[in-house]
Amino acid sequence: MRKYIMALDSGTTSNRCILFDAKGEICSMAQKEFTQHFPKPGWVEHDTKEIFATLLGVAREAMARIGASGADIAAIGITNQRETTVVWDRHTGEPVAPAIVWQCRRTAERCSAIEKTPLAKTITEKTGLVIDAYFSATKIQWLLDNVPGVRARAQAGDLLFGTIDTWIIWNLTGGKVHATDYTNAARTMLYNIYDLCWDEDLIASFDIPRSLLPQVCPSSHLFGVTDPELLGGKIPIAGVAGDQQAALFGQTCFEPGDAKNTYGTGCFLLMNTGTVPVISRNGLVTTIAWGLDGQVNYALEGSVFVAGAAIQWLRDEMGLIANAAQSQEFAEKVDDTNGCFFVPAFTGLGAPYWNQEARGIITGLTRGVNKYHLVRAALESLAYQTDDVLRAMQSDAAMELKTLKIDGGASANDFLAQFQSDISHVPVDRPRCVETTALGASYLAGLAVGFWKNTDEIRRNRISDRLFAPSMEEGRREDLLQAWHRAVSQCQS
Ligand code: ADP
Repeated sequence: MRKYIMALDSGTTSNRCILFDAKGEICSMAQKEFTQHFPKPGWVEHDTKEIFATLLGVAREAMARIGASGADIAAIGITNQRETTVVWDRHTGEPVAPAIVWQCRRTAERCSAIEKTPLAKTITEKTGLVIDAYFSATKIQWLLDNVPGVRARAQAGDLLFGTIDTWIIWNLTGGKVHATDYTNAARTMLYNIYDLCWDEDLIASFDIPRSLLPQVCPSSHLFGVTDPELLGGKIPIAGVAGDQQAALFGQTCFEPGDAKNTYGTGCFLLMNTGTVPVISRNGLVTTIAWGLDGQVNYALEGSVFVAGAAIQWLRDEMGLIANAAQSQEFAEKVDDTNGCFFVPAFTGLGAPYWNQEARGIITGLTRGVNKYHLVRAALESLAYQTDDVLRAMQSDAAMELKTLKIDGGASANDFLAQFQSDISHVPVDRPRCVETTALGASYLAGLAVGFWKNTDEIRRNRISDRLFAPSMEEGRREDLLQAWHRAVSQCQS
């Protein structure tokens, strides 16, 4: 009997491997950071060979820690930083250049130019995305146009493109499989999320040779088996999903209307909208949540730019707290913010406001406001910003949120979780296992090989650490929201 599912979680700054058992409990874990390269202002690159080498290293380390062999592992699930772009030689495996990371702004001008053309509308209609340098298409185009010889080699059929999942699958299978899953394909700006195919019009518009593109498969699917030299056996690679979609699956958000929020540096909210894509009227992105059992589920996605980063700012720039966890202790020392509101629009405002010019603001300052009030206002801002995105999602999808499932570093903050529940008037559910991204990838893999029978069995694995029920009086909630929205307008004027 094979005992474990291996999750390979290849993030933006580190690679992690977690071995889960059938109950979804963590049996072993290893993690290693890799190098971030910033060759020019606004540019971000990764060494793809270093990514694979560290990933393989943590996989071996996690196995060695509990004496697991290749034969103990039922399947591998991969989850990854999305959109990051790699192009390599199909014969030698050599990348033609460092990976262009999702954060890299080198194609921002190109995207601004596209926005002024009819192509912009076509892209949004076919891919569900907004035009942005995050997504892979303009990054591929940049490599084809700027790295000497690359276009000719691509046209000759010698090169392959992949997001990080594809690069990992190709390397794990010893160069036998060139594939990705729906969720990663959906972030390239080349994939038609309605017809579920690479879009011929978009490929032509970006002048990308068809032979570069990987085969697109469901997220829970037998992609191939590992080269036996690598992990001591032919292990099936059976689950693949981008990090945010994997977290949605790991939080068991299987029903339409189910949503999760990850409170990290920023916040990432995803809501499952069922089997028909929902188009946003509020600037949210429409994306594929996963492909499973012959069906595709869609999601609405929205992000908050500054969330946990506001807490870091209190700590590092203001020196008001010694560490992030202390923010809870301070917030609980006072009953409210004494009328002050903090909008941490350090880099502008995202959904649903979309104002790049907005800047941070603290309103309502009076002589009685002290540091505890300010810290509390900062924590509350995470919840207010989340609430703004949640409202946009519920209105776009015409679905009411039943419970908000939370994870990420700042979800450990009980004050924040309770305030979120109060202000959004919805139960907030924090799971015991907060490794939801890795868990989601392993669930997708385990379902494909029969390690778990179905999503009902998986749902039983999810144990709540704590459920926060809304308890704020309605009038007070309305007053607070009104004052928050007034502060948001002020920071834009
Ligand atoms: P990321 O994956 O974006 O690096 P994490 O999920 O690791 O982020 O979360 C780290 C962020 O969460 C930091 O910005 C930090 O300020 C914030 N954070 C961590 N613990 C707490 C806490 N107890 N209360 C509030 N914020 C916290």
